[in-house]
Order: sequence, then structure tokens, then C-alpha cells
Amino acid sequence: MSVSVGFIGLGNMGNPMAVNVLKAGFPMSVFDRNPQTMENLVRSGAQAAASAKQVVESAEVVLTSLPGSPEVEEVYLAPGGLVELAKPGSVLVDLSSVLPSTPRKIEPRARARGVHYLEAPVSGGVTGARAATLAIMTGGDGAVLERVRAILRAIGPNIYHVGAAGAGNTVKAINNMMSSVNSLAMMEGMAVGVKAGLDLTMLYEIIKASSGNSNSLAKAPRNLIPRNFEPGFKVALMNKDLETFNTIAKELHVPVSFANVAQRYQQAALAAGLGEQDTSVIYTLIERFAAVAPPRT
Ligand code: NAD
Repeated sequence: MSVSVGFIGLGNMGNPMAVNVLKAGFPMSVFDRNPQTMENLVRSGAQAAASAKQVVESAEVVLTSLPGSPEVEEVYLAPGGLVELAKPGSVLVDLSSVLPSTPRKIEPRARARGVHYLEAPVSGGVTGARAATLAIMTGGDGAVLERVRAILRAIGPNIYHVGAAGAGNTVKAINNMMSSVNSLAMMEGMAVGVKAGLDLTMLYEIIKASSGNSNSLAKAPRNLIPRNFEPGFKVALMNKDLETFNTIAKELHVPVSFANVAQRYQQAALAAGLGEQDTSVIYTLIERFAAVAPPRT
């Protein structure tokens, strides 16, 4: 019989990841504090739980996809949280992007109760979550990874064991810093092109075939040209990931530069009330700085 899986946190990433785990044939119970996020999963055969407690008391493997360290530490470590209530021998896997200090706190507390724990932040965005093509960066005991590999395989083929707890989220923060800097460079370039009278679609096509191409350029047809700034990946979450990168760099006394510039843009978007929109919405701020008129619709 298939292992029973619980899934807590069914937002932009959690929901499509849970859909793929369910499709792979694992019986599943789900919980999110926003009940609407559970509806499609229940229609596809998942059990809606009334609380995280109900999930962890029944499932052999619990996956979580929550916003960041405060939510993860609350759900895992508060009295009556996952670590306290998980059955000894069961496995808790956190797919969220958090400070490396968070998995380092959770792992020993779980181990003391005979509960297995793995950090497993993911990359590839909502598109990758839907297509089950995510990269997964695990940190913790490699034997625990082997116990849940078949479940993780349902959300992505590229599963890495990076090292001890905290190592997975270190890679994740480095990745997101690079991705954010690439995106901002792309958006500044596009705004300059538009101000020079060039067509955004033409710019995209030429750069895609040239050395300025990157994954970030895919945001041009997906977000910039149709002016679709629905998340995707929220500004507030990218701000958190850049903060994580800067925290790691500071602890290691590495004088980094680009992450600070990238974070300034996220801060400007937060100040403009755009925190819940996709990070590509920063293009609209760059347009304003450049006095580029948005296209007439
Ligand atoms: P989201 O805000 O869309 O989803 C988070 C979900 O967690 C929400 O549905 C919320 O209701 C739920 N939640 C929060 N606190 C809860 C609690 N105490 N109990 C139960 N549910 C709770 O965020 P997301 O974009 O799905 O991101 C989730 C994680 O994945 C974040 O750490 C993010 O940085 C990371 N991530 C996101 C992307 C992306 O492209 N969106 C890509 C890779 C990694």
C-alpha cells in the first residue's frame, strides 16, 4: 500500500505540488488556513483536514509549503505543532524557502522525538510546479531523503542532497539572488529599449537568440508584454529570500553588492503596496523611474 501523505500550505506552489503527489497515487490529507486552496484537491480525491494537527496525526509523511521562517517555525515548533505531534518514525519534509537557521533548529527537536525531518526547498516557479519539473535541494540525513524520494520525484526530477540541515536553503538563497538580479537586469534593459522607441516583443525575440538570454527573459512574454502581474512569485517572498541571502553573506563576512540592489527594488515595490503581486510588477516601477508611458490597452 502507498505511503499516506499530508500536505500543509496549498498556495501558489503547494497546490500544484500537492496535485502532482496525489496524481502519483499517494493517498493524501491536506490543510491550509485558507480553505479555498483545498477545493481542487478535494475534488481530485484528497481529504480536507480541519487543522495541521489532524494532518500530522494521520500521515506517515508530511510535506509543508509555507511562506517563510516565522510560519514554518510556528507550524513545526510551537506547542501542539508538527514536531510535538508527529508519530515517531514518520517523516516531515519542509519545501518552503527559509533561513538556514530554521532547519537547524527543527532537525534536532524532531530527532529527539524519533521523528525524521528534511529541508527540501524547490526552484522552478509555478510553471515548474505544475509541470512537475522542479529542482529540489535537500539538506539533512541522506537516509531520510531515500525514504521520501518517490514522493519528491512526483514534484521534480532533479533531486539533490546538498549536505547537512541548512545547506539546502543556502543553495536556494544563492539561486534566488541570482535569479532576482537577472530579472532586474532584464527589466531595466527592456525599459531602456522601450524608451529608445524599440518594440518589446522584437527586443525579446532578438535577445532570446543572443547572449543576453536567460531564464528571466521568459518573463517578457509571460508578464511584461501581456502586463500580467498576478503571482507567480510574490514580491514579499523574493524580498524574504534576498534577506536570507544577505543574512548568510553577512554571517560569512562576504561583502556582496548585487543582492542589496535587488532588495532595494523589492523594498520599493513593498512600499508601493505591491507585495502580493508577482516580482515582475517591478517593471512598472522601472517604467515610472524612466518616465516610460505604459502601453495603451
Ligand atoms: P503562497 O503565499 O502562495 O502560499 C503559502 C500558503 O501557506 C498560503 O496558501 C497560506 O494560506 C498558507 N499558510 C500560511 N501559514 C499557514 C499556517 N500556519 N497553516 C496552514 N497554512 C498556512 O506562497 P508560495 O508562492 O506558494 O510559496 C511557498 C513557499 O515556496 C515559500 O517559501 C516560497 O518562497 C517558496 N517558493 C515559491 C516559488 C514561487 O514561484 N511562488 C518558487 C519556489 C519556492
